[in-house]
Amino acid sequence: YLTRPWLTHYEAGVPHEFHSSDRVMPDLLRENARDYGSRPAVSFLGASLNYTQLWQQVQALAAALQKSGVQPGDRVAIMLPNLPQFVVSFYGALLAGAVVVNTSPLYVADELAHQLQDSGASTLIILDSLLPRYLEVQGGVPVKRVFVARVEDALAFPKNLLYPIKQRLEKQHVKVPWSDHILPLRSVIASQKGAPQPVTLRPDDVALLQYTGGTTGLPKGAMLTHRNLIANAEQAWSWFSELKKGEEVGLGAIPYFHVYGMTASMNLNILGAGHTVLVPNPRDLKMVLSEIQRTKPSLFPAVPTLYNAINHYPDISKYDLSSIKACISGSAPLPLETARTFKEITRGANLVEGYGLTESSPITHVNPVSSEQREGSIGLPLPGVDAMVMDDDAQPVPLGETGELWVSGPMVMKGYWNRSEETAKVLRDYAGKTWLLTGDVARMDEAGYFYIVDRKKDLIIASGYNIYPREVEEVLFQHPAVLEAAVVGVPDEYRGESVHAVVVFREGQEASEKELIGYCREHLSPYKAPRSVEVRAELPKTAVGKVLRRQLREEVWTRRSG
Ligand code: AMP
Repeated sequence: YLTRPWLTHYEAGVPHEFHSSDRVMPDLLRENARDYGSRPAVSFLGASLNYTQLWQQVQALAAALQKSGVQPGDRVAIMLPNLPQFVVSFYGALLAGAVVVNTSPLYVADELAHQLQDSGASTLIILDSLLPRYLEVQGGVPVKRVFVARVEDALAFPKNLLYPIKQRLEKQHVKVPWSDHILPLRSVIASQKGAPQPVTLRPDDVALLQYTGGTTGLPKGAMLTHRNLIANAEQAWSWFSELKKGEEVGLGAIPYFHVYGMTASMNLNILGAGHTVLVPNPRDLKMVLSEIQRTKPSLFPAVPTLYNAINHYPDISKYDLSSIKACISGSAPLPLETARTFKEITRGANLVEGYGLTESSPITHVNPVSSEQREGSIGLPLPGVDAMVMDDDAQPVPLGETGELWVSGPMVMKGYWNRSEETAKVLRDYAGKTWLLTGDVARMDEAGYFYIVDRKKDLIIASGYNIYPREVEEVLFQHPAVLEAAVVGVPDEYRGESVHAVVVFREGQEASEKELIGYCREHLSPYKAPRSVEVRAELPKTAVGKVLRRQLREEVWTRRSG
């Protein structure tokens, strides 16, 4: 039975051999500082750090973390948008031997508290405007020290570009209560002299806790090792034969706190000694487009909604986007029409759909660039990835039939942090390898292309953001008027899917749609809140009382499309 489409790889002109590296993450940066020292590494609104400067800052932060008491294996949480300080903090924490905990800047206080408690983070690196969320929960979390970053400290902005961002900053100005444990990141880095204490890091040490709902919806940390992260950046890099080390410019528009932005943009660029142009807010299309025009990136990884928004931007013909060569679209299905229009607008950019999940660092499949794109396909497994489609009895299905997608390779996580039972549900040994059960229902065609046809797991993807129904339901359950709640994804022309809640009220109680949506926004990142709420007398359930989410989804979909 064919698990690796060797022949198709060969015909599509993409590699299939892969040997995972035995280095650790800071090695990549150290080597590039040595070999490409004067090349720009990260830039932000026109000012940049070269590889030598980036490495110096990373070393200084690592030394500062160590001095403040961070020990190898301690968790350092980062809550920053795409700023140069993100890259410095990420690699600095790793060089100090710590484990990074990526934290979404969209988190509200409750979500932040959960992640800090669950990971046991002793250190937090946070943007000043987000600090109030930490201050709200500081009594109940294990954080001992906080380093505060400010946008205006990122780099010396050129005057013309500084103006709009300065205006925005003045609006969000926060008075930071500096103390002996809330310190300015900038001066902590600037005051360091000398290199950090060397720490022995091994490729299979955990580098990152990347939080995800996984297949069950409860937020938990996927333990990704140095080997996992390097392997996945190298696997993705090897897919594009035209990429040249030390010559590429990548647009860093997708958030780095998300596993996809972290690998496909930050780590891939650092691995290839590329120059990353950071765009802190991908929803600011005008900024995204003017940065593309000004900095001429060759790589632009993003999500379908962003490519689609660019395709439909009113003044798009005024922009020259022709520098873009390669784009992987991830996180959600990419309509072929979006890829075709994008190719026309950019005069030739290859936009190919990829697929992956947090637990596999994340990319496992990508469509080949040079050959045929198959409608609706996530493409072929990356080199070093084994993939197969399995039935409910853990046996391979006949070719062309559907089943759960299982993947194996050097990018698969070590397990979930402190959750051995949850880990056992998704990591399974079979035929001498460890496999990750993706929770996605797939099929493979005769040429070895894979197609995602459904999800076994509960997950809604709206505008490229993943929303786990259970997390939203738990907030709705806390509302005094709500007796029962079920959350489903409904088709949405613009977002792909949007969040729809169905609630049953307690006897004699009720609440308006607006109030329930507002309540969710208070307790969850805004993108997770329902966009519509429907009231019912009861929810469809199985004989044992489990909500029939699939049936509910179908009912809502049928009603909407009818
Ligand atoms: P996350 O772990 O948050 O990155 O979410 C991973 C999930 O996103 C996968 O298990 C899929 O359900 C979904 N996903 C990612 N890429 C695609 C794609 N190209 N097509 C359909 N679903 C996707």
